[in-house]
Amino acid sequence: STAILWFRNDLRLADNPALQALLRGDFTALPVYVHAPGEEGAWAPGAASDAWRRRSLQALDAQLRALGSRLHVFTGPTLDTLARVAQASGAQAVFWNRRYEPAIEARDAVVKRALRSQGLRAESHDAALLFEPWQVQTRQGDPYRVFTPFWRTALSQWRLPPESEAPRRLPAPAPTSALDEVELDLILPSPAPRWDAGFWSHWTPGEGGAREAMTEFATQRTADYALARDRPAVQGTSRLSPHLHFGEISPWRIVRALESSPAAEREAFVRELGWREFAHHVLHHFPHTPEANFNPRFDDFPWAEVPPAHLDAWRHGHTGVPLVDAGMRELWHTGWMHNRVRMVVASFLVKNLRGHWRHGARWFWDTLVDADLANNTLGWQWAAGTGVDASPYVRVFNPTLQAQRFDPQGEYIARWLPGFERLPAALRHEPWRDPAAVAAVAPDYPRQPVVDLARSRQDALEAFARSRALR
Ligand code: FAD
Repeated sequence: STAILWFRNDLRLADNPALQALLRGDFTALPVYVHAPGEEGAWAPGAASDAWRRRSLQALDAQLRALGSRLHVFTGPTLDTLARVAQASGAQAVFWNRRYEPAIEARDAVVKRALRSQGLRAESHDAALLFEPWQVQTRQGDPYRVFTPFWRTALSQWRLPPESEAPRRLPAPAPTSALDEVELDLILPSPAPRWDAGFWSHWTPGEGGAREAMTEFATQRTADYALARDRPAVQGTSRLSPHLHFGEISPWRIVRALESSPAAEREAFVRELGWREFAHHVLHHFPHTPEANFNPRFDDFPWAEVPPAHLDAWRHGHTGVPLVDAGMRELWHTGWMHNRVRMVVASFLVKNLRGHWRHGARWFWDTLVDADLANNTLGWQWAAGTGVDASPYVRVFNPTLQAQRFDPQGEYIARWLPGFERLPAALRHEPWRDPAAVAAVAPDYPRQPVVDLARSRQDALEAFARSRALR
C-alpha cells in the first residue's frame, strides 16, 4: 500500500529515517511537500531561505524522478492537505522527520494526533541532529544552560548510527484520482528582481551540493580548521550550514567523513556541530527565546532607538567601519557571512549602536540562506549578552582590532569594499586616518563611521552599568 513521505527540512534521500521506516513497512512512497509558511508563527521563512528552498526542492524532485518517482507539491493548511492527499491516493500512513521550532512542534503534534484519529499510521523520526533536544539533560533531569557541560554529557551518549544510501529505485504509486497539486514556481517563484543572482556561484542547494561541500571540506580543509576557521579571507570553514539547515545531509554523515582527519581538528569541528545541538536544546526547552531575552534581567535594558539611517547603514554595509561593512555586503551578495564577522557585526549593532538584538535577528532571518531559528536566536542572544552561556555584555568587540587580528592584510575587507584593494592594509582597517586617499579610490565610502567607536562603546557600558542587568 501507499504511504505519504512528507518532506520538510530533510531534503535528502540518504540517511533519511522516515524514508527507511516507510520502506521497511513495505509501503510505496508518495513524496509530498506542503507549502504552509503561515503555520510557522512569527518565523515564516525569509526571502533568502525561500530562494534556497526552491532550488533544493527542484534538486530533490530531479533525484526522485531519476528513481522513478517525483515530488508532489501542495499548499496548506497542512493537516487538511495531508488528510485529503491520503484519501485521494489511498495512502494508509504518513512518515516524516521531526523539526524543533516551537510553532512547528506544536503544529506537528496536532497533525499526528488528527491523522491517527482518522485511522492513519502517522510516524515521525529523528534526522536533523546528533542528539534529540530532550535527550541530553543534567543529573537532575533539567536542561543545560551552559555549553561545556552540555557537550560533555552529549559526548558520553555518542552512538554513531549506521549510514544508509538512497534507494536505487523508488517506484511511484499507481495513479489514483487527481491530486490538487501546485507548481513550485507558483508558491516559491524565482525572486524578482533577481537579487539572488550572485548566490549561485557560491552554492549548490540539494543533496548533491551538500555531498560536494562535505567532501571538499573533509579532503581539503580540515588540516588547519581550528585556526583557519577564524580567518574570514580564507575558506577555512565547511560552509555546510544551509545544507544542514535544510537537512540535505545528515550531521552523522559529516562526522563520519572526518574520521581520517587529524583528531584535534576533527574535535574542533564536531564541537561546532555541538553548538548547533546546544542551540536546538535551548530552543526546545526555552521556546520563548526567539522573542524574549533568556536572561530577564535585561528586560528593562535601555536599548537605543537606532535612527533609521544608522540601521539602514548597518543593513547595507555603509557604516564606515570596514569589517562590519564587508560582512554585511558578503551577506547581501552571497546569503552567508563568516562566523567571526557575524559576531563583529552583531556586537556593533547591539553595543555600538545599542540596537535591540531582535533588529539584527530579523535582518539575518531574511537574508541568510542558513537562517535557522535555533542557531540565529542563540547567536544573537549570545552577542547581546542576554542569552544562555552568552558573551558578557561588557565584552564589546572592537571591530578595528578584530580586523587587524583576523584579517591582517585586509584581504576580506578589500574583497567586499570596492576600491579598497588599492589601499594599504593600514587604511583598509582604518580608512578614517586618510579620508582623501580613501575618497580617491572609494568615493562612495563614508568618510567617518556612523558612530564614534570609542564613545559609543563607553555609552554602552554606561547604559549597562545603570541598568538592572548588572544586579
Ligand atoms: P563551520 O565552522 O564549518 O561549522 C559547521 C557547522 O556547525 C555549521 O554549518 C553550523 O551548522 C554549526 N555551527 C557552527 N558554529 C555555530 C554556532 N556558533 N552556533 C550554532 N551552530 C554552529 N548559524 C546558522 O546555521 N544559522 C543562523 O541563522 C545563524 N545565525 C547566527 C547569528 C549570529 C549573530 C552568530 C554570531 C552566529 C550565527 N550562526 C548561525 C552560527 C555560525 O555563524 C554559522 O553556523 C557558521 O558561520 C556557518 O558556517 P559554516 O557552515 O562554514 O561553519
